[in-house]
Amino acid sequence: MNSLKDSFPRIFVVATRKFDKISDFGRWHHGVWEWNIQLRIPLFDWEKSTWSDFLSVLNKAVSIFPSKDRLKWSGASHGRYSMKDYCIKLECCGKSKDPIWRLVWFKFAPPKVATFVWKVVHQRIPVTTELQKRGVRSIDQPECVFCKCESESISHVLCHCGVVWQVWQRWCKVWTVNIVIPKNVKQLLQVWFSQIIRKRVYRT
Ligand SMILES: [Zn+2]
Repeated sequence: MNSLKDSFPRIFVVATRKFDKISDFGRWHHGVWEWNIQLRIPLFDWEKSTWSDFLSVLNKAVSIFPSKDRLKWSGASHGRYSMKDYCIKLECCGKSKDPIWRLVWFKFAPPKVATFVWKVVHQRIPVTTELQKRGVRSIDQPECVFCKCESESISHVLCHCGVVWQVWQRWCKVWTVNIVIPKNVKQLLQVWFSQIIRKRVYRT
């Protein structure tokens, strides 16, 4: 979307206050929003249609009823953020893509856990390798905090680290699940899910 300056360059040139906020160019008067946009010189007749287009764009930004500006989350019709709505939105986004999302949003885990797994699959966990990829340089300890000998990648810190794998093995023993070290977290999810279904762990 172009800025107002780019969409209406002529009006920008003749406007007197070029860098004020939109809200500074009008006010509510008896429940009706009135614009007060001053120009250095009057527009020519052939420019009136441009002015009309300009006002119609501005009017789209004006609420029907007078109220204070507030943040509104576009993920839900009521405009308020909630973890539940966020998960529903993500679940809808994932339906047409990789079947892995069916496992992520299986409703087996609480929403915040499912959201964490969603971040893991998207490589959005702030481990040191991901931070370095994104240009974060001030990392005191780039190695894994558990074993302190491998670099801290998502796959390492959640699957391949010897310390972490001992935790997985302990749970595997509790739930009598057979699992080998997976290639990555995605494969771990797939194997774990199939084992859970087969062993019906979620019913115990
Ligand atoms: Zn480690």
